[in-house]
Amino acid sequence: MDIGILALQGDVAEHSAALSEIGVAPRRVRRPDDLTGLDGIILPGGESTTMSMLLESSGLADPLGKELAAGLPALGTCAGMILLSTHAVDGRSDQRCFGAIDLTVRRNGFGRQLESFECDLVVRGLSGAPLRAVFIRAPLVEASGPAVEVLATLEQPAGAHGGVGEAPFGDGRVVPVLCRQGAVLVAAFHPELTPDRRVHELFVSMVEDDRVKRTEVPRTDEGR
Ligand code: GLN
Repeated sequence: MDIGILALQGDVAEHSAALSEIGVAPRRVRRPDDLTGLDGIILPGGESTTMSMLLESSGLADPLGKELAAGLPALGTCAGMILLSTHAVDGRSDQRCFGAIDLTVRRNGFGRQLESFECDLVVRGLSGAPLRAVFIRAPLVEASGPAVEVLATLEQPAGAHGGVGEAPFGDGRVVPVLCRQGAVLVAAFHPELTPDRRVHELFVSMVEDDRVKRTEVPRTDEGR
């Protein structure tokens, strides 16, 4: 199985280690040629505006956009989630959003005071203990389309106050933080920064399912 990691900026090494740990040798993607024959791609956490500029200067933006539009399975974490979404609020006006998953996200949307925190998430479809999630200047989902499946949310009862290092809400909002649409999985947090590999395993199983489907019906530019 050939899984690429967009290696222009951000936590490429951490995703690479995560994939290696579960027995998948990753391919670093820096140039358009590196996309050839990929079964899936990871867009890492980092800085979506910087990555967006590097996508343009490396010539990867258009060919990667084409692959994603044709249904290339993708995992986006944090900045990667922003790049895979349909709209980014508070981004650069020329920032690339691939629209691989029907989400509107607000960059750094968790507030200025407590931009980073950790919490435990109950994830639909993942068995075992709750998933420890690290949020670092994370994108906040403001809207999601009907095709988006929400696998985990962050909830805090109205009136609760996030302490230092805890989720910063106290307004009763329920925010999607792990979402899936077809073969695209996005996390507002950083599964690559914790030792739990269940999100990467889920993605690898999605890539495997997609490969099986493609042997039956070849991927085309239409209908995805
Ligand atoms: N705030 C960053 C951005 O807008 C994302 C932060 C992250 O990936 N940890 O791209």
